[in-house]
Amino acid sequence: MDIFELRAEASKLGYKLIPIKKMPKKLPCVCGCNRRTKWWTAEGLFYECNNCHRESPVGKTEFDAVNKWNEMIEWTKIIEAEDGT
Ligand SMILES: [Zn+2]
Repeated sequence: MDIFELRAEASKLGYKLIPIKKMPKKLPCVCGCNRRTKWWTAEGLFYECNNCHRESPVGKTEFDAVNKWNEMIEWTKIIEAEDGT
């Protein structure tokens, strides 16, 4: 039985299959370091680069924090690329 048949069977029974959100891969830091420390706060958690101590914004869940880390890296890369020209 493949996923389509499984979905059809599930809907017959009145269930809806929801795909599990896959944890995104954490991007390496802009400094090139690929090791981070995870910190927990009252509001949630964030990541700190082990090399340059760059910190991501706080996310409510690990999934959220990973996305915020990746977003921060992407934006930092864009901003630094613009500064270079
Ligand atoms: Zn770093």
